[in-house]
Amino acid sequence: MTTAQRVVIIGGGFGGLHTAKSLRNTDVHVTLIDRRNFHLFQPLLYQVATGALSPANIAAPLRDIFKRQMNTEVLLGEVVDFDVEKREVILRDGRIPYDTLVLAAGVRHHYFGNDQWEEHAPGLKTIEDATEMRRRILLAFEAAERETDPEEIRKWLTFVVIGAGPTGVELAGAVGEIANYTLKNNFRRINPASAKVILVEGMDRVLPPYPADLSAAAQKSLEKLGVTVRTKAMVKDVQADKIIIGIGETDEVIDSHTILWGAGVQGSPLGRKLAAATGAELDRAGRIIVQPDLSLPNHPEILVIGDLAHYAHQTGKPLPGVAQVAMQSGDYAARLIKARLKGETVPTFHYRDLGNMATIGRAAAVADLGKLHFTGFIGWVLWLFIHLLYIVQYQSRILVLIQWAWNYITRNRAARLITGEHRLPPADHESQPPQAEETREKELV
Ligand SMILES: Cc1cc2nc3c(=O)[nH]c(=O)nc-3n(C[C@H](O)[C@H](O)[C@H](O)COP(=O)(O)OP(=O)(O)OC[C@H]3O[C@@H](n4cnc5c(N)ncnc54)[C@H](O)[C@@H]3O)c2cc1C
Repeated sequence: MTTAQRVVIIGGGFGGLHTAKSLRNTDVHVTLIDRRNFHLFQPLLYQVATGALSPANIAAPLRDIFKRQMNTEVLLGEVVDFDVEKREVILRDGRIPYDTLVLAAGVRHHYFGNDQWEEHAPGLKTIEDATEMRRRILLAFEAAERETDPEEIRKWLTFVVIGAGPTGVELAGAVGEIANYTLKNNFRRINPASAKVILVEGMDRVLPPYPADLSAAAQKSLEKLGVTVRTKAMVKDVQADKIIIGIGETDEVIDSHTILWGAGVQGSPLGRKLAAATGAELDRAGRIIVQPDLSLPNHPEILVIGDLAHYAHQTGKPLPGVAQVAMQSGDYAARLIKARLKGETVPTFHYRDLGNMATIGRAAAVADLGKLHFTGFIGWVLWLFIHLLYIVQYQSRILVLIQWAWNYITRNRAARLITGEHRLPPADHESQPPQAEETREKELV
């Protein structure tokens, strides 16, 4: 009797999930290890961060996803290292042997050597990141409502988003929407619509990888939501209540209590561990440089996929860190494993770019589908259906659709919960009745 080949997959994100799913009905034993017990639909994290969806809407329990896939077991565990000689994955609390290893541990945000900025400008990668951002955004309005000093109110009502890639654009648009529509009539002392949302980008336009016409359309939609776009602006420093940007030779200070990070990413620390164990090369962003079949030099039994892989054979530059790359590389890894079992070969990995999309507020998006470019409402409808399609669980799809329909009609964001600890300005003015809104607004000008 032969024992089934053991495939260990690290990471239940888009890449790992697709590898495992594509190995169903095969004669391999799959172990999917993740330190979280759920798959997270990261493209909608910004909607949790801005109160449009709840965390459970965009997460699906891994055990549930694989409950009918009998050749697959899910293990909750944190991988800390590799023993490539013995072919074992080292967990914080044990070891798991493999015949083939697929590493799909993704990336996390990166502060370009300024890790001290993270405290003041959190990034968006996990559910906890999203609820922390949500806490900061909503708390800023609450703090402004209780504040008496107009200068402080201005700081609380100034939101800065760093990085105008899809995440930054989507975040800035959503904060603009909250300020202008969602919170209308919710406060008595401040006017949320007087909030400033500033999107800071180092390049010369928003959504730099997109075609120029779509960048221009995205900027227009952002401006309609009251977002001020600052391009060619380099972040020099981030502090608790200000950000310093350099524009040309001039430095500018933007006072703000709420700064959100939507810029660079770097590979999971596991990439570094695996590179050290195998001698594989890393790129500057800490991603592992893979061979054309996604394996590592001298280690055909180890494949790296998704965001953590630097794959440049097709285009001469790394593929973008998007879900499509992760899913397609995950499917490819499974195809390669199956072919090897049969003693066959498969052509090298080839990424098929199906297009890119970003949404800006309630009913506007840009979609780059090769020769076809869509903007505005049509772009948004496309964005909506594509995203619904890729949400893993059928039940979540229905719930998200209902929630979006409700948000669309009412402009409400029902998941506006402030969780975690917080401290607000002292309530020394609260015995005074609130001033009429117009008087208050004049004070703030
Ligand atoms: C805010 C945001 C918005 C995005 N928007 C879009 C978008 O609109 N369109 C798009 O195409 N892409 C988007 N992306 C990118 C897309 O989500 C990624 O490309 C995709 O998730 C990469 O998949 P992956 O499987 O490589 O890694 P991930 O999905 O990041 O999964 C990695 C998994 O590995 C697990 N893991 C990590 N380290 C360990 C460890 N030590 N031990 C055990 N488990 C571990 C993690 O828990 C995680 O489940 C967005 C990403 C973010 C963060």
